Amino acid sequence: MSTTKMPASCWMGLNDCHIQPFNQHHGLVAAAKTAFEAMQLAAQQDNIDIQLASSFRSFDRQLAIWQKKWSGVLPINDIHSQPLDTSELTELEKIHAIMTWSALPGASRHHWGTDLDVFDKKAVEASGQSLQLISAEYEKSGPCYPLHCWLEDNADKFGFYRPYKFYNGGVAPEAWHLSYSPISKSIIKQLHLSELSKQLASVNIGGKQTILTHLNELFERYTLNGIVQ
Ligand SMILES: [Zn+2]
Repeated sequence: MSTTKMPASCWMGLNDCHIQPFNQHHGLVAAAKTAFEAMQLAAQQDNIDIQLASSFRSFDRQLAIWQKKWSGVLPINDIHSQPLDTSELTELEKIHAIMTWSALPGASRHHWGTDLDVFDKKAVEASGQSLQLISAEYEKSGPCYPLHCWLEDNADKFGFYRPYKFYNGGVAPEAWHLSYSPISKSIIKQLHLSELSKQLASVNIGGKQTILTHLNELFERYTLNGIVQ
């Protein structure tokens, strides 16, 4: 197990010094990039076209997603990917609803450069639908089901696992989200609530006071997501 030290500015996505470009849209930490490239090649032999839908994401991008959901520009979905009527929700209920699918800025695994969302590009193109990153696409009748099965058998050979495989009352199950465990398992032990709290207090974010009041429980439930440290 690597004992990679990552400064708070990196794990909160405030800078990308830890990131190497994968292509013009994506970046990962060096070891995760190498492992992903090896996995991609191996999958190709089995006719699976694994491509990145998402990789490193900065604090500002995560904040922009949060603000769009908070203000209603983007829908807030329930656990079944159906849009929720948020008009009757308290601020805290709205925060929980957003965090079922979208991390709090500064607390996203995508800031680390070890975590990525994958899909089978050829299979999705052949289906004639555009990728939505919803469970149905990775289930039996979906275009990414062969990829899902391939990952079950092979992802761990390359150091990847699925932190959101099961629903623990936190983040919704995400069959597409992979994490490069030799590094991410050491980063999760380095996260500090005090750093995150300071950062969130310094920005304009919807629900700020409620987030800061409940930060401890939100962090446990969604960032750690049932992971026992
Ligand atoms: Zn993801």
